[in-house]
Amino acid sequence: MTITVKKNLVSTSKYGLKCPNLMDAEYITIHNTANDASAANEISYMINNTSSTSFHFAVDDKEVRQGIPTNHNAWHTGDGKNGTGNRKSIGVEICYSKSGGSKYRAAERLAIKFVAQLLKERGWGIDRVRKHQDWNGKYCPHRILSEGRWDEVKAAIEKELKALGGGKTSSSKTSPAKKKTTGSSSKKASYALPSGIYKVTSPMRKGDDVRQIQKALSALYFYPNKGAKNNGIDGVYGPKTANAVKRFQLMHGLSADGIYGPKTKAKLASLLN
Ligand SMILES: [Zn+2]
Repeated sequence: MTITVKKNLVSTSKYGLKCPNLMDAEYITIHNTANDASAANEISYMINNTSSTSFHFAVDDKEVRQGIPTNHNAWHTGDGKNGTGNRKSIGVEICYSKSGGSKYRAAERLAIKFVAQLLKERGWGIDRVRKHQDWNGKYCPHRILSEGRWDEVKAAIEKELKALGGGKTSSSKTSPAKKKTTGSSSKKASYALPSGIYKVTSPMRKGDDVRQIQKALSALYFYPNKGAKNNGIDGVYGPKTANAVKRFQLMHGLSADGIYGPKTKAKLASLLN
């Protein structure tokens, strides 16, 4: 069952403070909040305060809340402004870790499922999961560490990931993700991804079908030509579009050849629908 994330995203006017850089994430970092607040409160405090400290998700015993978009970096790993943890990892805070107990345990269980879902969505394996401590040595996630359960938590994530059908690092299987039965229908409708094979040809292929591919890539922040007019959405399958396809493939465990085909289509569709 898909875990729905409740979004309470930071205002764009605070991006400079909280999440100034675009990010193509490569890792997921696990934290304990060292606090006894709910996910909703952790996120609303984080997005409204004047500290740069930030993180993408907070998970409590009932829900997952999001405060920072995953295509932006957050400041959560203490490894500096160019650190890999801060610049390449999605931060997940597990709530109620200060006092522990059944609420914490339930939050950890939900976080395990949620992290597995994030891995699955991205075609990632358990090797993408880090603890905060790995980046800068901070004793976090403190409760998991003090209870000596980091390996156990990782194993639990891996088990969930397998149950979702993921975890094969170089999987070529592309059974499309199960469609959600509720919500997001308006978003789905706007990406009519074409079938067939698209690559750089001479003359270059042009049309609305190419434009659909470019729009889908851009929606996931793989712009054909970032900064150009309309971010390079011009309906032409040229080298820049092929490059965007290649970057997308690379980030999603597909063979990175810059050729749009059924596997790339399925992956795009699973992320957008
Ligand atoms: Zn931490």
